[in-house]
Amino acid sequence: MDTATGSDVTIIGARLIGLQGRDTGAAWGDDVHEQESRQTLLVLETGDGLVGYGAAYTSLGLAAAAMELLAPWFIGTSVDEPERRTEQLHQRAYWQGRGGALTTVISAVNIALWDLWGKVCGQPIGVLMGGRYRDRVRPYASLPFGTAEHTWDVVTAAREKGYLDVKLGWQPFGWESVATDERLVRVARDAVGDGRLMIDAGGSAAFWPHRHAWARRTAQLLADHDVYWFEEPLDPDDLDGYRTLRMHSPVRIATGEVLTRRQSYRRLIADRCLDVVQPDTTKVGGLSEARRIGWASHDAGLEYVPHGWNNVVGLAADLQLASALPHCRQIEYVDSGDYMTELLDGTMSLEPDGMLAIPAGSGLGITLDTDALARFPQTTLGRPDRTDA
Ligand SMILES: [Mg+2]
Repeated sequence: MDTATGSDVTIIGARLIGLQGRDTGAAWGDDVHEQESRQTLLVLETGDGLVGYGAAYTSLGLAAAAMELLAPWFIGTSVDEPERRTEQLHQRAYWQGRGGALTTVISAVNIALWDLWGKVCGQPIGVLMGGRYRDRVRPYASLPFGTAEHTWDVVTAAREKGYLDVKLGWQPFGWESVATDERLVRVARDAVGDGRLMIDAGGSAAFWPHRHAWARRTAQLLADHDVYWFEEPLDPDDLDGYRTLRMHSPVRIATGEVLTRRQSYRRLIADRCLDVVQPDTTKVGGLSEARRIGWASHDAGLEYVPHGWNNVVGLAADLQLASALPHCRQIEYVDSGDYMTELLDGTMSLEPDGMLAIPAGSGLGITLDTDALARFPQTTLGRPDRTDA
């Protein structure tokens, strides 16, 4: 056994579960069908009956193909040392599609390894990552724009549920006219009242039409309505554009949800291209990668708010991460999608003051509903009878 620390809990199999056919809570664009088949859960199984949960923001087919490469490198190993074992996967897969679906699937493996190691140690992941700075975090309701009337209704409903803060984003904002943008922001501002309002332009949408001039003018519009941050105002790859915009913007600039690997954030952070760093734990490389970006952002004086439009395993990972970073005080929360509500054995809900408790149980601190998982298509790899070279 490849271990230096002594646990004899060994991974014997991996099960991928394709989340499809449900309502994600997203209502933007014409590619909703595509959107709803982009998420895959991972269940790592051990010889002791313990299971570890992970999540990857990619389809079941891509996840299965990536896992054919990755699984032989960790099946049969101990669950010790989640970070070193994950780095081994990054290094061994270096020449085969790093930064794409491979990195996304390594995210799921890393989260599941942390979950298992937490269960073996009897500790929440936040403790194993160095300690918990908080037991609760401030979630914001993340909602798609629509008509002005729709915007008013969804924001009002979120506030009535107890959310303190709200983010609105994507079409039609940025796609119709300055007048439409101004109206949507004004309605949102009125509906949010004294809570924080964030606006997400959705610059990672296909063929996002705007560049610096629009972003700078819109940043001023948002400042006039006391918006807390302006998210993805530009194509995520336009680092020069972000650097310039951030120097001149009267509101905080946020981005990062589509980037993968810690190396992709290095220049973004070093060149002060943003104010709020938003990696997605289920894409970027998992909790280990997100934690490193988190500390780099802390040292640079930036805010860290994980991107959270995925599923309940991603949310649980974000909560553990938020507990282990001193400056991660907010998380994105989509409580309406089926992948948040259907999969969990139990419930997770806002506390009366609008805060969200960070689970204190072992690992991620959640249990999934096995009957619910069984309703989705699955792929199984690396059973004990496998004979890998
Ligand atoms: Mg976004």
